[in-house]
Amino acid sequence: MEEALQQLKGDALADLDVLKNADDIEQFRIKYFGRKSPFSGLMRELGKVAKDDRPRLGQLANSIKKDLQDLFDEKRRSLVAAHSGDGDGVDLSLPGRTQANGKLHPVTQIMEEVCGIFEGLGFTVAEGPDIETDFYNFEALNIPPHHPARDMHDTFYVDDSILLRTHTSPMQARVMETQEPPLKVIAPGKVYRCDSDITHTPMFHQVEGFLVDKKVSFADLKGVLSVFIAKMFDDSIPIRFRPSFFPFTEPSAEVDIGCVMCGSKGCRVCKQTGWLEILGAGMIDPEVFKKVNYDPDVYSGFAFGLGIERIAMLKYGINDIRLYYENDLRFLRQF
Ligand SMILES: [Zn+2]
Repeated sequence: MEEALQQLKGDALADLDVLKNADDIEQFRIKYFGRKSPFSGLMRELGKVAKDDRPRLGQLANSIKKDLQDLFDEKRRSLVAAHSGDGDGVDLSLPGRTQANGKLHPVTQIMEEVCGIFEGLGFTVAEGPDIETDFYNFEALNIPPHHPARDMHDTFYVDDSILLRTHTSPMQARVMETQEPPLKVIAPGKVYRCDSDITHTPMFHQVEGFLVDKKVSFADLKGVLSVFIAKMFDDSIPIRFRPSFFPFTEPSAEVDIGCVMCGSKGCRVCKQTGWLEILGAGMIDPEVFKKVNYDPDVYSGFAFGLGIERIAMLKYGINDIRLYYENDLRFLRQF
């Protein structure tokens, strides 16, 4: 027994001497320290030797194993240091760490897609401030103080006349007061409303679009929006315009598309109607032109506004808008 242990030690030391790389190290570890190592076999044999010899032999086996483990650890460290070049003990046998690729947020992706479609139709992009005055957010858009339409907006006020814009429509007045027609502009950005539930977040994204020229008609509006919807969703998706009211357009319309969830058959999402509202639009009210000194007898135009989160929800079939802002990577990675 004792001889066998000494023999094993001699073999192990000889093997240890010739280790050269990570593979050798692993082979050695399995051979001498693995479950099927000769040590394990000898330890089982120990049960069969004379009772008086057992403690001494057991001790010897353990001390040989420990010495060997120490020598092996030292050898492994020196090999790793030699291979890492600068000798800082980097273990080259560890698997590499891969770089995780970042992605654009789904809302950003849809925003870029929407803007891309309108830019393809000749619209230019204009951006304006998130913190807006009462004048641009309401008055210039024909929403005077105490107008009931203000109640629809649930505004965050900074003070009496400064607020977080409730829509991107203030960009109509901001662009028109500094430029002359013809205008083809889209204004993407963040908007804010004091509102939070399954379909509303206090901050969300809109794209405002407007076109001003001589002899612009409702047919032009329908044409532009039809092209947009066909490109954004599907050529074959049905569209309808429903009469509506906005203070800054006359006439006004809400635009519906055939329900993408049920193929217009009727479901919970479309409340069995087969239609989903996707944006508001209309012909720019002459009162808005007067505020920026455009002659309403010469110029006409249309405007529309759409919610990016709403489009993204319909396009991806998502039923809770708040998912976009919980930053759960399991959700975000799907886009
Ligand atoms: Zn439906």
